[in-house]
This record gives sequence, C-alpha cells and structure tokens, in this order.
Amino acid sequence: MARTFFVGGNFKLNGDKKSIKEIVERLNTANLAENVEVVICPPAAYIDYTVQLVNKPQVTVGGQNTYLKASGAFTGENSVDQIKDLGAKWVILGHSERRTYFHEDDKIVADKTKFALDNGVGVILCIGETLEEKKAGITLEVVERQLNAVIAEVKDWTNVVIAYEPVWAIGTGLAATAEDAQDIHASIRKFLVSKIGEKAAEEIRILYGGSANGGNCSTFKDKKDIDGFLVGGASLKPEFVDIVNSRM
Ligand code: PGA
Repeated sequence: MARTFFVGGNFKLNGDKKSIKEIVERLNTANLAENVEVVICPPAAYIDYTVQLVNKPQVTVGGQNTYLKASGAFTGENSVDQIKDLGAKWVILGHSERRTYFHEDDKIVADKTKFALDNGVGVILCIGETLEEKKAGITLEVVERQLNAVIAEVKDWTNVVIAYEPVWAIGTGLAATAEDAQDIHASIRKFLVSKIGEKAAEEIRILYGGSANGGNCSTFKDKKDIDGFLVGGASLKPEFVDIVNSRM
C-alpha cells in the first residue's frame, strides 16, 4: 500500500508577515511534486494570513498546538474550533518543546489528540527520546509509552500522522542516520500493528523529524517506513522545497 509522502513545516515561534509571505510564495511558485502532502504550521497568530496566501493544492496549513477544551476561561490558549475556523486542517501535538517547556505529559498529549480528532482536525503526533534515554538504550520503551497513552484514548487513527523526532536531533544539526531512523520507524510500525491492527498501522504515515534539511533528505528516500519529514529550521528556508521534492 502506498502511503502519500507527507512533509510538515514547523515554523515554531518564528516569522512575521513579510517572511511568511516569502515562504508561501516560494511554495506557490515552485514546481512541487504532485503526490506529496505539505502542511505548513505557522504560529497561531498567522494561520489566517497563511491560509489566505497558499494557492497550491498539495499545501495546507496547520497549527502548532491546541487546547483540550472547546472554549472558556483559559487565557492564552487556542481552541481546535478556532484554528479550524481559520482554515487549519492539522495540528502538531506532543512536540518535545511542548513536553519540556510547557510540561505536557503523555496524558495531556493524548487528551489533546483525542479532542482535536473528535473535532475534525488531523494530528501530527510527535514522539521521541532524549539523549539520556537513547544512551540508556530505552528509545523504544519511551516511544511505546508515549504511543500507549494515545492508544488508550484514540480508536480511529485515520487522521493521525506520527512524527518520530529524537529530541537530541531537534535543532542540533545532528540528524539521525536514515538507517537508524528506518530501524526505529519499523519498530514503531510493528508495535502499532500489535496495538491498532495491521491495516491502520500499515496506512499510518511515520515522519522523521530532527535536523532534516535539503542536504540530508535524499538519504531517507528509499527507506520503506519513512513516509516524510517534520521540518523545523529548514522549513523557513528555500531548501524546504528540496525536502518536499525529495521523493521526486
Ligand atoms: P529541526 O526541528 O528541523 O529544526 O531540528 C524539527 C522539529 O522540531 O519539528
């Protein structure tokens, strides 16, 4: 079964109208592969602006976070309905920066994931181990624990994309090798087969994230369980187009 190649751009807390317009115009004018799904995720304040600018059928817009309640007295939060109202189709949840700086534990990530899916927004679910966990040899234990929390809440995985992002690779310039990433992706898929069933596990896209860039993206090309990328820093740069086109 062919899984559609998926490339997410996580702008994080970067950008203004001028730079976001440049990024979107580069995508609008580039010769993009047709069989690719691109989701660019600007800061929430720019979702509406970004949606208005995009004019490529392969490209949609996502948020970087949503809360687990629809509305109410939750100062500073963004709701699933609100980002959907602005045109967002996806949201990144469980990113390591949210887990680390904003103390989002596995249960919160799982609840947010369920809430977003129940309200019609697809989820780019981030998982991954820290350097200490990698050194301790517990990478699979960590990602399985992170997934188990979501498996307990979510029954339909159709609108979920998993991003395996080793924390030690994020923003460091030290990407995992394609071989190591493939091994872990294959283990994640095997684990999912046992938990959510063969069909759902074979259909789900598993992205690699962590210092993916225009230079290394082609090394992941023939890896059978790597279905795309979640890109941080390089999504702000012209090389993002090369990553989107790396399966061409
Ligand atoms: P990076 O970030 O590509 O800048 O390493 C990836 C991410 O945090 O999603």
